[in-house]
Amino acid sequence: LSLRFQANDIVIEDLTEKESPSRSGPYGVQIVNTGPDHTFVLDEDALADLLLKDDVKDRAVVVISVVGAFRKGKSFLLDFFLRYMQHKYGSGGGGDWLGSEDAPLRGFSWRGGSERDTTGILMWSEVFKTTLENGEKVAIVLLDTQGAFDSESTVRDNATVFALSTMLSSTQIYNLSQNIQEDDLQHLQLFTEYGRLALEASGTTPFQRLQFLVRDWSFPYEAPYGAEGGREILQRRLKTSDNKHRELQSLRQHITSCFSEIACFLMPHPGLRVATSPAFDGRLQDIEPEFKRSLQQLVPMLLSPQALVPKLINGQKVTCRDLLQYFKSYMNIYKG
Ligand code: GDP
Ligand code: MG
Repeated sequence: LSLRFQANDIVIEDLTEKESPSRSGPYGVQIVNTGPDHTFVLDEDALADLLLKDDVKDRAVVVISVVGAFRKGKSFLLDFFLRYMQHKYGSGGGGDWLGSEDAPLRGFSWRGGSERDTTGILMWSEVFKTTLENGEKVAIVLLDTQGAFDSESTVRDNATVFALSTMLSSTQIYNLSQNIQEDDLQHLQLFTEYGRLALEASGTTPFQRLQFLVRDWSFPYEAPYGAEGGREILQRRLKTSDNKHRELQSLRQHITSCFSEIACFLMPHPGLRVATSPAFDGRLQDIEPEFKRSLQQLVPMLLSPQALVPKLINGQKVTCRDLLQYFKSYMNIYKG
């Protein structure tokens, strides 16, 4: 009997932890929520708690965001970003940033069956700090997004999450499965148009860096994994040649005109354990070496001090304190 009581106690503790994760270390804070009536709610208090801390509020902010369809490995990838960040900019000791072979992957919650956790935008509760090569002290914020293209959300919800995160990030990672398809570009056009109209309404300029990330790339003989292969594929997909239909041409022109920089990276498949095993908990030993090699290239390429780009709006650097204000004013645009 006492054994059973103990077991129950453990379960209860677990649930408590889930409901108030702040007690158990850093976590993904839900800052933008969608209600059942498709309204968007900003948790201003939660956002202010993160961005108005004395040691970060006046620093220029670097905002890294990941968007794209549901269950395509966004949160999983972000948890490797976190490993790098904690190792490089946090207190995470020596050794390789990728971590040990048998450590479960923690951070933004990933997998969790076929149901999605939440909709909206999450911000990692740790705001990281570093000094860029030019001596500038910056703060780094990671955003995870949820809900894009899943069956419950309307197109408008998706567009709003995509547009908001694109307007507020200095690097937007567009996570795609297998290839850059024509409809991925069409979605991108819709979303960026949505954001551009909003920006025009607020009198500010379009977006910064767009990083396509193709997961499960399976044609390495056609274009190699990594940034070089990505460049080839991107060039092919965004090429505006005379023999392309006018509509396709203007789609491509629109996309290239919205961002100051566009790049693409081709990721290999992580292996069947990652894709299908219900027991997989994110440990490296269950992940294909090729995928790990690609992580070793991709993550520093985006997050090393040389790679970090402070957020600009209207050509001006944005501090953490400013970012809070922009969140509020952009949210107002989408309230109607
Ligand atoms: P999200 O909804 O986009 O955030 O997706 P998650 O990060 O929660 O991952 C969903 C599922 O995809 C998990 O079961 C992961 O193990 C798996 N996964 C993660 N990365 C990849 C990948 O690159 N390829 C494939 N095929 N599966 C992945
Ligand atoms: Mg996720």
